[in-house]
Amino acid sequence: MIHRLCLLLVLPLALLSACDNTAEPVFHDQYLAFGTLIEVTFYGVEHAYAETVSTEIELQFMTWHHDWHPWEPGPLTETNTRLATLQPFTPEPALLPLLAEANRLSRLSNHLFNPTIGKLIAVWGFQGNPLPEGAYPDPATIEQWLAQAPTVDDVSIQGTQIVSRNPQLAYDLGAFAKGYAIDQLIDHLRKRGIHNAIVNTGGDLRAIGTRGERAWNIGIRHPRREGILARIKTSGDTSVFTSGDYERLFEVDGKRFHHILDPRTGYPATGTSAVTVVHENAATADAAATALFVAGTDDWQAIARRMGIDRVMRVDSAGVIHMTPAMQAITELNEDINAEVRITH
Ligand code: ADP
Ligand code: MG
Repeated sequence: MIHRLCLLLVLPLALLSACDNTAEPVFHDQYLAFGTLIEVTFYGVEHAYAETVSTEIELQFMTWHHDWHPWEPGPLTETNTRLATLQPFTPEPALLPLLAEANRLSRLSNHLFNPTIGKLIAVWGFQGNPLPEGAYPDPATIEQWLAQAPTVDDVSIQGTQIVSRNPQLAYDLGAFAKGYAIDQLIDHLRKRGIHNAIVNTGGDLRAIGTRGERAWNIGIRHPRREGILARIKTSGDTSVFTSGDYERLFEVDGKRFHHILDPRTGYPATGTSAVTVVHENAATADAAATALFVAGTDDWQAIARRMGIDRVMRVDSAGVIHMTPAMQAITELNEDINAEVRITH
């Protein structure tokens, strides 16, 4: 089809060369940042221009990787150090909208997505590599943290100033920064005239436009084995974010301890293997996937409603797949999946 179009239409030279080189004019690039593999895909963009814009994206990811890093020294760790003094100060200005949006989404999630639990994440050893093997934190340390459990309500942002009232409070944006970054970069792509693209951070992505005449086709990883659990058909502008207990974990005496913590208990959240959220905006989808993972069996539907999310697929720890009707409408389970599926409102 594409070749025929190339022959029939008088196309700019550059687009012709894209048609010559590949069956479809798809540009693909990848780089490492945010502790994961970042992939960009553009459809129908002249190659040299695609390279230029992809390099802009890469540089931006590298800058944010440094600026938002939860434990390597930079603007976010500096902000955490100053917050712990409980005195007002002016952080790096670019951080303020990021923190304000994280705070807003945290409130919307009833604090289950809680970006202020950096110290708890550090106690568990999830800030750093490699992960601890053979030991988990002293329960007394977790109890001490719980006694002062911070939330975003302990922070005030006024103008360019920020202040904390809780000495245990430290930001870790690991559950939200990828989504926030992707939203900014999709805006950038549009400004640069690119309207058919995917920005993918380790399986969490936002897709805009189409892949030629077809919708983008997004695979969701199976939480318990190699391969695909389901495919999602996107249309228009769609973000697909998954939080899973298989991303970062360690085992002690055969028990898994994974990286998504329940701020109510101080321990890894239970009841769920993976949650996938589909939503227009990537920052919201990212925060919501984490929040619904934490919400678990009893609360996930109520929290989804609060956050304005109608497309959710949740695999519980028994392997049962729960889907909202709106999610079912865009999801095709892989043919080898014979798990129980429950459609719930
Ligand atoms: P992914 O590993 O796919 O990015 P998430 O978006 O759920 O998964 O982010 C998990 C990360 O978020 C953890 O590594 C940790 O840094 C942080 N985190 C863990 N629990 C919470 C929570 N309840 N609220 C906010 N951030 C969290
Ligand atoms: Mg998340």
